[in-house]
Amino acid sequence: MAWNFDYLIIGAGFSGLTMAERLATQKGATSLVVDKRAHIGGNAYDRYDDHGVLIHNYGPHYFRTNSPRIREYLSQFTEWHPVDYRILSWTDGAYWPFPINLNTFEQFTGKKSTPEEMAATLEKWREPVTSPANSEEVIVSQVGRELYKKFFEGYTLKQWRRHPRDLDASVCGRIPIRTNRDDRYLTEEFQALPAAGYTRMFERMIASCADRVKILLNTGYRDVLPHVSFKRMIYTGPVDEYFDFSEGRLPYRSLRFEEESFTPQQLVAREPVSGKKGFWQPAMQVNYPNDHDYTRIVEMKHATGQLCENTTIVREYPDDFGLGREPYYPIPAPDTSAVYARYKERADAEPDTSFIGRLATYKYYNMDQVVGMALAEFDRISRK
Ligand code: FAD
Ligand code: UDP
Repeated sequence: MAWNFDYLIIGAGFSGLTMAERLATQKGATSLVVDKRAHIGGNAYDRYDDHGVLIHNYGPHYFRTNSPRIREYLSQFTEWHPVDYRILSWTDGAYWPFPINLNTFEQFTGKKSTPEEMAATLEKWREPVTSPANSEEVIVSQVGRELYKKFFEGYTLKQWRRHPRDLDASVCGRIPIRTNRDDRYLTEEFQALPAAGYTRMFERMIASCADRVKILLNTGYRDVLPHVSFKRMIYTGPVDEYFDFSEGRLPYRSLRFEEESFTPQQLVAREPVSGKKGFWQPAMQVNYPNDHDYTRIVEMKHATGQLCENTTIVREYPDDFGLGREPYYPIPAPDTSAVYARYKERADAEPDTSFIGRLATYKYYNMDQVVGMALAEFDRISRK
């Protein structure tokens, strides 16, 4: 006997759950949401570890947006804990303010400066390019080669196993470069974490429409296809998988996360480094462009503001995508875009499936962007 739903939604991440919630509460539609993982939330899933510390399971997720609509939408399901996300970079045996700003510049030159002096010096260092075509050009054309090599080249090689020259300008171009003392990692107007965590927020999204939305975890969607009838599919998984890789495999970058926890007693010895009781490192995130195999160490307790005696750090190791590895990052580059273009053509021609989210559109999107995309797709479907 087949299950009947209006919609079959593949993926219980930001994009899939936004669609399920909108369709249920605004249209009265029923959905079956299927995810192969054991939990909801996709890559934004967070959890309390065995030491009682709230950690982001799949790497740090710093929510930010410039869109009032997206913020208002999510605010129905969560309070917010405002955070000015601040990070450091560790290189040449020292911590550096990052992204590059006036403080970084002063540490680099060893003398006090004004924004005007910094701008004038960068003007001398930079290698002018009218329209940066790749991730090397976008940085070198702003700050010159020495700062590029110090902060960007090694990190990018590790993270993507590609030279910055072989990546779109948008990859390193995400990172702001400032001549003032604003040392926040991000530029968006609204920067905050869901006060009780992402998973709690997702639970509240589902609770608001529990009578119309069924969630099936630990299940690959192809296993349920023969047993479900539906009018439309909302697909948020990898687009090449949907089409049986018929246009060739899309490349992804993967990651490996290594957690380590510390008790207050163990942390006493770290106080000279962290500068704070109860913490292991001096900031929520420290990037390692040139040392070690990992790219960053994240200590989320700095950002969540959790009052907890223990702490947990997570080392993030870039990895090739393959068997048993998650496709965390689409790779923005001309060669991969050419493969994706073939899938996009086929996706656009599918009459009864919507392709949304980071994997189904093969775009390096942030959380607010995929929520925006889901809201727009909901509007489009509603108008039909
Ligand atoms: P996902 O969250 O990937 O959800 C897709 C779901 O589909 C997954 O749960 C998957 O298990 C499921 N699925 C896939 N294939 C199948 C199948 N065959 N059958 C059933 N289910 C399937 N964004 C920010 O805004 N700020 C940040 O600081 C930030 N940091 C990040 C750090 C890392 C390390 C990563 C990887 C991403 C980060 N992001 C960040 C991006 C953010 O994770 C994404 O924008 C967002 O989670 C995408 O949501 P989604 O629903 O499109 O996809
Ligand atoms: N990047 C870098 N050095 C850094 C931080 C970032 O070279 O210290 C580059 C790198 O290529 C990285 C990209 O900028 O992949 C985007 O960085 P972001 O921190 O936004 O990456 P994410 O959090 O999405 O992994």
